[in-house]
Amino acid sequence: MNTRTEASACPPPQSGAPDPPAGVIARPGRYNEGWSGRYLHHAPGPSDTARLIRETVTARSSARTRMKVAVSELIDAHPCGWEHLGTATAKDPQIRARRRPADAGSCYCHTPDGYVRPEFLNQLLGMLRRLEQTRPYDIEALEKAVKRSSDPTACAPQLINPHKGLPDRVVYVFLLHAEGITVGVRDGARDARFLKAGEVGWSEEANWEQIDAAAAAIRARVPEDLARDDAGRSLTTTARHLKKMVSGQYALETLHWHARTGRETAAALGALARAAGVGPDELPDHLASAGLEAQADLFEVAAQLIPGESYRAV
Ligand SMILES: [Zn+2]
Repeated sequence: MNTRTEASACPPPQSGAPDPPAGVIARPGRYNEGWSGRYLHHAPGPSDTARLIRETVTARSSARTRMKVAVSELIDAHPCGWEHLGTATAKDPQIRARRRPADAGSCYCHTPDGYVRPEFLNQLLGMLRRLEQTRPYDIEALEKAVKRSSDPTACAPQLINPHKGLPDRVVYVFLLHAEGITVGVRDGARDARFLKAGEVGWSEEANWEQIDAAAAAIRARVPEDLARDDAGRSLTTTARHLKKMVSGQYALETLHWHARTGRETAAALGALARAAGVGPDELPDHLASAGLEAQADLFEVAAQLIPGESYRAV
């Protein structure tokens, strides 16, 4: 084995200092549903990382070619994902976004001098072998041919989406689109969901502080926040059902049936009691003495008492 091959092996995982959070550089999924993209190991903060992605793309493209360059250079050309974006030069040791022909960053599929890493090549040869041995009628061939690695830094090709192959350390998604980058943050209350922390246009100034503050708030969300979001919906749905019913004696049962968790039921009952101006224990009697219409109104008022969802899913 010559020295070049040794130097081009998959970079060992860093040990010692705690790893910064990781991200995914993504494009919208087919039919604009969901997203998929490549792992980015070093994504220390949402605004710093979004700024670096934006600078990398704008330094290497014109306004006309922006999206094409962003997707081909940051996603398609580097299937094993990125260790970090930005590069240093002989003259300037600072890691920053560079124009071509400098690299966009340091990836897990190529060496700094542009060779394919041996681990990646072995993965590709294995895929080719499995595909060539696949019977023509096996429609899941491609899925089987790509062997998934649980380690995103293992120099293996991996297309990440929120439902498949999402590494634990991934906290942010940077969704590339024609106007700029949507910054999504992994919901602290629901693991596979990302909520929008902000939008960064390709050329206009972004509100970086607001993006970092929203990201921190989304990470700090707890199951109670999720239950509150859902409780508002359950109350509204129950109110709608009550209006179609002939007897109001099952209002609370209907609510229990719509709510999916105990936390959500508790949040909904709390709002109902506040709307009725009674204690939670008095709620069944209070409802029993009210007509169907009055009950439906009460559920609607209770739904208004629950603050609306502040973040949209990405
Ligand atoms: Zn690469």
